[in-house]
Amino acid sequence: MLVVMKHSATDIQIIEVVDRLRQMGFRAERLPGSERTAIGIMGNVGYVDADAVAQYPGVKELIHVTKPYKLVSREFHPENTVILVGNVRIGEDFVVIAGPCAVESEAQLMEAAEGVKKAGARLLRGGAFKPRTGPYSFQGLGLEGLKLLAKARDLTGLPVVTELLSESDLEMVAEYADVIQIGARNMQNFELLKAVGKTQKPILLKRGMSARLEEFLLAAEYILNEGNPNVILCERGIRTFETATRNTLDLNIVPLIKELSHLPILVDPSHGTGIYSLVAPLSKAAKAVGADGLMIEVHPHPEEALSDGNQSLNLENFTQLMNEL
Ligand code: PEP
Ligand code: MN
Repeated sequence: MLVVMKHSATDIQIIEVVDRLRQMGFRAERLPGSERTAIGIMGNVGYVDADAVAQYPGVKELIHVTKPYKLVSREFHPENTVILVGNVRIGEDFVVIAGPCAVESEAQLMEAAEGVKKAGARLLRGGAFKPRTGPYSFQGLGLEGLKLLAKARDLTGLPVVTELLSESDLEMVAEYADVIQIGARNMQNFELLKAVGKTQKPILLKRGMSARLEEFLLAAEYILNEGNPNVILCERGIRTFETATRNTLDLNIVPLIKELSHLPILVDPSHGTGIYSLVAPLSKAAKAVGADGLMIEVHPHPEEALSDGNQSLNLENFTQLMNEL
């Protein structure tokens, strides 16, 4: 970190900041320039959290040189991380995860599972615990939904992805899920992140709807920092001023994350657009910008869906998209 002092900073003010940084355990050196003095923190391992010195008189600004995340960074780990789920290699193969937003019934899930498998999906998704905006909307089947997912896995051989909403359900969800999803609304639920970090389950971490790239990577860092390296990132659109679509799918982040991190990144064009007719074009765009795969909502009868019917593909449209991809 560099502490840039104001042009008008006095010698005493500079010494005060240097002394404070040294008290905090950092090696701080004066770097006099022709216009102003900066103070460099040297020899630190990783990110320096000394932002409080900005309060000292004479300080103009702080410039961080090192990123606040480490374990997720490509600098620290140059090779791509490949996460093995059953025989699927996420981060190596282009992987499509598909299935309904919510598990609604045995008939619905089995039809969806067989259909998406036939079309080429490698994993099945389905929410048993649903994070709905309002309390009167369908909240998911809970344990019964998890059991149906296990049944669909037996039927098709597809590993299953399902969302964990609360730490108290972790053991139960981990028993049934091959991949645990942490949804957008929980991306900064740090206790939940730490809890899944203590398992070795693959975690599909969705970007928070207002999360900046750095916050997204720091959320993943929480999981790795607890000892679980198996994190799959997922861009699912962010809130912007645009209301014509449910969210604005931020494809910029895909190649940028590829530069900054070794973790695989998937794209969810279903939540990213909220409109079924946009799912196919944005899926292709996601593949073109280098995503490691897609997560797509597919319902055998979208017009009857209990959640997210508007953005769900039917099996025919999904099959066509898979062929085009
Ligand atoms: C989902 O995948 O069903 C979901 C609720 O997504 P998000 O957390 O991205 O809104
Ligand atoms: Mn959904």
